[in-house]
Amino acid sequence: MAPKGFMIDFSNKCIIVTGGNRGIGYAFSRAVAQAGARVAIIYRSSKDAPDVAQKLSKEFNVDVKAYQCDVSDADGTNKTFNKIDKEMGPVTGLVANAGVSVVKPALELTTDDFNKVYNVNVLGVFNSARAAAKLWIDAKHAGSIVITSSMSSQIINQAAPNKALTQVFYNSSKGAVSNLTKGLAAEWAPYHIRVNTVSPGYVNTDQTSHMDKHIRDHQARNVPLGRFAEPHEMTGQAVLLLSDHGSYMTGGEYFVDGGQLVW
Ligand code: NDP
Repeated sequence: MAPKGFMIDFSNKCIIVTGGNRGIGYAFSRAVAQAGARVAIIYRSSKDAPDVAQKLSKEFNVDVKAYQCDVSDADGTNKTFNKIDKEMGPVTGLVANAGVSVVKPALELTTDDFNKVYNVNVLGVFNSARAAAKLWIDAKHAGSIVITSSMSSQIINQAAPNKALTQVFYNSSKGAVSNLTKGLAAEWAPYHIRVNTVSPGYVNTDQTSHMDKHIRDHQARNVPLGRFAEPHEMTGQAVLLLSDHGSYMTGGEYFVDGGQLVW
């Protein structure tokens, strides 16, 4: 008799998670480690990232290491991916998750603000995806890329009834990266590289905890499920896309938003 249950086993996988040391990225790192993968966590400046990696490694008895790398630097990102491939590889999957936001009225936004947001949310995702694709195309290896976009790719978030949360660079960067996903999926399908987006709704992380409580309360009230998500609630969709169960999924944007986009 065949065994019961639905199994996702990443024992032979090695997955890179950018921004994998905290927030939603940490939940992704933990989920793929739990499924048995070797995990390379990329962080920019958090000093405790190596400790986070060690803790996960112990919890699930898998190899987890932290690598410092600014994903907005294309050369540095290529070098870091090559190093990970040699030390922990072959790399089989990528979660391009690192992202930042600037909340300011449009009239006050600067070119520096634009660069800060787009260099990570769009260029950084592109650099990470291309570094992974180069590894796989050179090795004639298939791969799966999951990009963390946002439901903000589709909507303007509210701070209060009929009042915008002022972050036009952030929302437009997510629109850009959701479209980038489709283009990369189309270009790399012949190499058996799948590229998809997980687009979260409101999630309790450092990014949202810095917002005014009135704004967060208003946002939570307007989500059909009536609350922000916890980071681990984003992981099922990403794990599915990274796994062989997602073998016919590419170029898609998958919303995990508590129903927000029904409005
Ligand atoms: P956090 O602010 O909690 O964490 C951001 C992570 O990205 C950190 O690990 C940080 O590293 C890393 N990072 C930032 N810039 C760089 C860089 N240049 N190079 C490498 N790593 C970098 O973010 P969240 O967990 O809230 O968000 C994760 C993703 O989910 C983002 O793309 C965000 O836009 C998206 N998202 C979040 C939502 C939410 O409600 N929180 C909703 C929808 C989407 P370090 O710790 O070293 O600074």
